[in-house]
Amino acid sequence: MTQQTLSIIKPDATQRNLQGAILKMIQDAGLKITAMKMIHLSKKQAEGFYAVHSDKPFFDSLTDFMCSGPVVVSVLEGQDAISKYREVMGATNPANADEGTIRKAFALDIEKNSVHGSDAPETAATEIAYFFNQLEIVRS
Ligand code: ADP
Ligand code: MG
Repeated sequence: MTQQTLSIIKPDATQRNLQGAILKMIQDAGLKITAMKMIHLSKKQAEGFYAVHSDKPFFDSLTDFMCSGPVVVSVLEGQDAISKYREVMGATNPANADEGTIRKAFALDIEKNSVHGSDAPETAATEIAYFFNQLEIVRS
């Protein structure tokens, strides 16, 4: 099934100039970029994006981190794009990430783990709409 998913290249990665290397891994996996922009989130915008985690002990630190520098937000499309991108990303904690994944290659720790990817069709739709309107997404 063709799906769309939301990707974020997080501030730890943009700070180390890893945008190109990460986008190459995404494209090499066969995922197509159908929208992309670089933005610097405010604390409020980061809190809104991660609202599902607002009760977690790491919420304040996570949202501080997410607004500490620019992020690259993109829409990825392809066969089973949601699970495929989660595979390319690797486990949340880079200590558990498989060889060949983005997080194994680049993540610094469980928080500064270089990338975000949606986890289900419903969250993908909500997250894409948080950053892009329909006119900003290229039709494939
Ligand atoms: P994922 O990004 O793999 O979907 P989660 O949705 O569980 O992971 O968490 C969202 C983000 O919150 C993670 O990518 C990471 O940046 C941060 N995070 C998750 N768990 C922790 C933790 N135990 N300590 C600090 N930060 C965390
Ligand atoms: Mg998640």
